Amino acid sequence: ESSSFVPPKLSVQPDVRVLGAREHNLQDVDLTVPRDATVVFTGVSGSGKSSLAFGTLYAESQRRYLESVAPYARRLIDQAGVPDVDSITGMPPAVALQQQRGSGNARSTVGSITTLSSLVRMLYSRAGDYPDGQPMLYAEDFSANTVQGACSECHGIGRVYTVNEQQMVPDPSLTIRERAIASWPTAWHGHQLRDVLVALGYDVDVPWRDLPKKDRDWILYTDETPSVPVHSRLTLSESKAAIEAGVEPSYSGTFVGARRYILDTFANTKSASMKRRVAQFLTAAICPVCDGKRLKPEALSVTFEGFDIAEFSRLPLRDLATILAGVVARVEDHEAASSDVPPTANRAPEKRAAAVQLASGVLQRLRPLVDLGLGYLSLSRTTPTLSGGELQRLRLATQLSSDLFGVVYVLDEPSAGLHPQDVAALLELLDGLKGRGNSLFIVEHSVAVMRHADWLVDIGPGAGEHGGRVLYSGPPDGLADITESVTRGYLFGGRGLPLRTPREARSWLRLENVTRNNLHDLTVDIPLGVFTAVTGVSGSGKSSLVSQALPSLLGDRLGRAVRDDDEPVSDESLLAEAPEHLDGRVVGPVTGVQRLVVIDQRPIGRTPRSNVATYTGLFDHVRRRFADTPEARSRGYKPGRFSFNVAGGRCPTCEGEGSVMVELLFLPSVYTECPDCHGTRYKASTLEVTWRGRTIADVLAMSVEEANRFFVGDEEITRSLAALSDVGLDYLRLGQPATELSGGEAQRVKLATELQRAQRGDTLYVLDEPTSGLHCADTDRLVAHLQTLVDAGNTVVAAELDMRVIAVADHVIDLGPGAGDAGGTVVAAGTPAHVADKGVGASAGYIAAALQ
Ligand code: ADP
Ligand code: ADP
Ligand code: ZN
Ligand code: ZN
Repeated sequence: ESSSFVPPKLSVQPDVRVLGAREHNLQDVDLTVPRDATVVFTGVSGSGKSSLAFGTLYAESQRRYLESVAPYARRLIDQAGVPDVDSITGMPPAVALQQQRGSGNARSTVGSITTLSSLVRMLYSRAGDYPDGQPMLYAEDFSANTVQGACSECHGIGRVYTVNEQQMVPDPSLTIRERAIASWPTAWHGHQLRDVLVALGYDVDVPWRDLPKKDRDWILYTDETPSVPVHSRLTLSESKAAIEAGVEPSYSGTFVGARRYILDTFANTKSASMKRRVAQFLTAAICPVCDGKRLKPEALSVTFEGFDIAEFSRLPLRDLATILAGVVARVEDHEAASSDVPPTANRAPEKRAAAVQLASGVLQRLRPLVDLGLGYLSLSRTTPTLSGGELQRLRLATQLSSDLFGVVYVLDEPSAGLHPQDVAALLELLDGLKGRGNSLFIVEHSVAVMRHADWLVDIGPGAGEHGGRVLYSGPPDGLADITESVTRGYLFGGRGLPLRTPREARSWLRLENVTRNNLHDLTVDIPLGVFTAVTGVSGSGKSSLVSQALPSLLGDRLGRAVRDDDEPVSDESLLAEAPEHLDGRVVGPVTGVQRLVVIDQRPIGRTPRSNVATYTGLFDHVRRRFADTPEARSRGYKPGRFSFNVAGGRCPTCEGEGSVMVELLFLPSVYTECPDCHGTRYKASTLEVTWRGRTIADVLAMSVEEANRFFVGDEEITRSLAALSDVGLDYLRLGQPATELSGGEAQRVKLATELQRAQRGDTLYVLDEPTSGLHCADTDRLVAHLQTLVDAGNTVVAAELDMRVIAVADHVIDLGPGAGDAGGTVVAAGTPAHVADKGVGASAGYIAAALQ
């Protein structure tokens, strides 16, 4: 019996131990959490959950991993930031799934980020039905992003841009000299084109319509670019005379056709205003060759179950799953029943085998997506049109198919954007990950997820410097004894929004025949002068109604543009490419609504140059304070000197960004602190000017809360700060780049910017899930503010999933019953109590519980 092998005692650590964590606001935190368990980090916004889970645990795990694979990267990673912690032991390799900050690129789709598209291309290549005589294609031949696959007419864009004579020459009674060609560049370049035409022998002093068609076509559509000697500002006959007399030409000019000028400028200009100018002469049309499907005809001729690959990619994922399950079952039956049936050309045995293998592969990856309630999406859906929550669940489901084990998944609020009914599915999926031998570290605000945890780590008690301590670490039940914890009151009852008697509507706004995404011919009544919550499972149509149809239809009615953000415009929005279909109208009088304000989750800016201070307008005042100091005056520094967005006072090395990008071979590029300004963004001389003892860089590094104390007594500045603090953003640093804000934070910055304005009582506010990303305590504060807006005579319409909030709304519209095609109708509407009593739809039961 002594022969059995006893392994040497390994230093196995069953727990993850953190000693002395001081990242951001963490106050020298020690912590031990179990492995192979679901650990949920809780606490109010800004308490330090992310600093611990992402900034310390994940960052350290990542750093060790990169160190082991790329010694060269060490120096850079060290510069990019080693977490401030004494030691971490027992931490397995980590995979982080953070909420997407900013949106992805327009060519990224559900299919590409889940890698399902490449499998589907393989399926079409190997198991598709080919027309007789057509050779088999490679998988890449089915991709619009490759030269082999892309439609050669539209280069894989699916649309072609056209220009026509009417747009370029709106008034043919004008002569070329009188600027008949409206699309021509203005100023000197336009004069030059005119002079070149003269030199080429065209008469620019007759009305456009009197020129021969051949000449008009050449001037507009030629792709030739002749260069000729030019005499400036002459008529055709004067020019001929000058040439005959041997007058020295003024210069050599090059002609470019009007269409070519528009297309080239649109494609190449760096100037947004130039782009905007030429865009008005362009029309986007569906590509006539591929019919918008972006692929070569050969690729589109291959079908699978009767669909070409473009059609297949537009089907809802759940339909794909059904089709593929059918294929697998059919082929397997067939094999079982008749292995000696003569194979057809398209169903040769090896092809059937490929079909089953590939179809099963796709199916296996589709299942978690459908289980997570994303079955209504399609592979071709572009990621910028997805909500942050949808994107995160997509990534989560993709991880599930990756068969990793022994890792820690660090997740940022996976329940965001989920109806309570969908959260149940999420929890099952997370249990699946854990069951395979992984650990889960989850930063969460959802009480349902907290209850489901094996272990809770509550951080706080407040935000910023009032937080950063571990108040509790242990099984959820034990939190009940921690009186200091704000979370405790929500987990075990006793805290919440006081229930109220619903207000009566001042009047009603009726939207009729609304058709948008999954809403078909919907009629819905929206009360004015009250707080309405629109709810329903994820994908039921809340955003389609609240953020898209309502603002658009009401905006048309009020006769003015709705969104007034000054983001740089994308090509897509300029050309209003393939606008989503919207139908419907507002009926009856719209009384007492003068303004419509949409506060959505889109980023407040796409560059790190925009931040909370600049967006709210607060920074203008701050810069003026600095310029008003005696020191600044004696040096002649104006407010512009204190901007990091224009040359002058900013650091020239990083041009005011504070960081510089370093490209790494084989690894993602890293940003490291600028070696010259050390991240301050400013020149040393600018930082010699102080106000109340602090530099402009110090101010940008302050949190809203610190700034509030620092600027005490300064009305203009503290008004903005108070508004930010009211929406729960006390912890944000003023200089935090817009690109680092979550969708929810961006939305709250917009809300604060709006709140700091004087209230006029005639505004309809439209919000999309305003409480997503908020701790219950922060939610309560935000809702109190929305109620004040309504008390002041305004109307609030919010898509909402938090049943506590819905219970205190005046009116509830429950959309559903399901997601996608299975949703899009009003299941129930009325006061919260009415909807709860009616008892139909996914929300009634949860609302009833919240009304207890
Ligand atoms: P939570 O995840 O609980 O909302 P965070 O960990 O994001 O909280 O933030 C905790 C504190 O650390 C806040 O005061 C916040 O302003 C600060 N903080 C967060 N990120 C940074 C950063 N990159 N630099 C400096 N301070 C930061
Ligand atoms: P919710 O806000 O309730 O989660 P949405 O209004 O976002 O639901 O989506 C409702 C339906 O419309 C879903 O089937 C969704 O896939 C579809 N949808 C939403 N936006 C788009 C879009 N830009 N293009 C195509 N389909 C869309
Ligand atoms: Zn095409
Ligand atoms: Zn610098």
